[in-house]
Amino acid sequence: MLVLGIESSCDETGVALYHSERGLLAHRLHSQIAMHTEYGGVVPELASRDHIRRVLPLTESCLAEAGATLDELDAIAFTQGPGLAGALLVGASVANALGFALQKPVIGVHHLEGHLLSPLLAEPRPAFPFVALLVSGGHTQLMAVRGIGEYELLGETVDDAAGEAFDKSAKLLGLGYPGGPALSKLADQGDAKRFKLPRPMLHSGDLDFSFSGLKTAVLNLVQQQSPLDDTTRADICAAFQEAIVEVLTKKCLAALKQTGMQRLVIAGGVGANRQLRAGLDDAAARRRYQVFYPPLALCTDNGAMIAYAGAMRLKHARHDYSYGAKPRWPLDSLPVA
Ligand code: ATP
Ligand code: MG
Ligand code: FE
Repeated sequence: MLVLGIESSCDETGVALYHSERGLLAHRLHSQIAMHTEYGGVVPELASRDHIRRVLPLTESCLAEAGATLDELDAIAFTQGPGLAGALLVGASVANALGFALQKPVIGVHHLEGHLLSPLLAEPRPAFPFVALLVSGGHTQLMAVRGIGEYELLGETVDDAAGEAFDKSAKLLGLGYPGGPALSKLADQGDAKRFKLPRPMLHSGDLDFSFSGLKTAVLNLVQQQSPLDDTTRADICAAFQEAIVEVLTKKCLAALKQTGMQRLVIAGGVGANRQLRAGLDDAAARRRYQVFYPPLALCTDNGAMIAYAGAMRLKHARHDYSYGAKPRWPLDSLPVA
């Protein structure tokens, strides 16, 4: 079965073709980061307009790469939510229109389920059940995953998401938007021991997180050390990254212990962080847990994870061409596949 996947929930237009026997045949991405940079964040109206410009050319280029035609599609999957309403509507409208024109079934995919299943696009693939850490720009959640649609929330952030903490701290350090990758790069040159930052909720006894205090601690440091020289900036980055990696790693271990599960799966943009991967690999190896990651290019938003999640939920595809967007859509309301 050949599934077209369309992602347009935020500032990335992603399109991909996934075949249930042959795997990922093609994927294309257009990031709007450069367009939003001068505003210091995503401008929703600009995002929607740019998705409109990109989605069909990306689709054509995917089909060309896969040597496939629209007629050969078995279903069209798109990100129905959560995300920016106007941006989501672009994906929904394109999926509705393509489905109607081709008389193919359409399926609305939950963006976080896409992230959550993206490690299944890598080899080796994790088997169910597993503990999943979803660390993205908008979410930080630990989940027990027993199958597609069988998600039990174990803990989550009570304020900022980990990616958001990276981005906000990066902004305070003058590293632009979204600064997560830039902060991480600079951290590699810094001394993590020069400044001591808090490890929020490390000993809270539950699986929840809090990152807004960490960002405030970075703000205080920046003010204290101002004007920042390059060394100090790198040292603050290193201290920040070490704090966040330690909290994420320890809470993952606690979740594995609590559930008795052996496999840990990381998903979402912060899963691209090298220090986090190294910390998790190291901690897991010492306890004989296995850790799985998405392919590096599929950590942040992309169409491949949407095509894949759609393929896993083919029986929910419908000849319905009136899908709307679901800007707010709780993950635990999904049916079991
Ligand atoms: P959500 O999926 O929760 O709606 P999102 O789609 O914006 O949020 P993703 O695309 O999964 O989130 O990830 C983007 C986030 O990942 C940003 O906050 C970005 O800074 C962060 N990020 C990407 N690469 C790295 C890295 N190497 N180190 C740290 N953070 C990173
Ligand atoms: Mg993004
Ligand atoms: Fe995302």
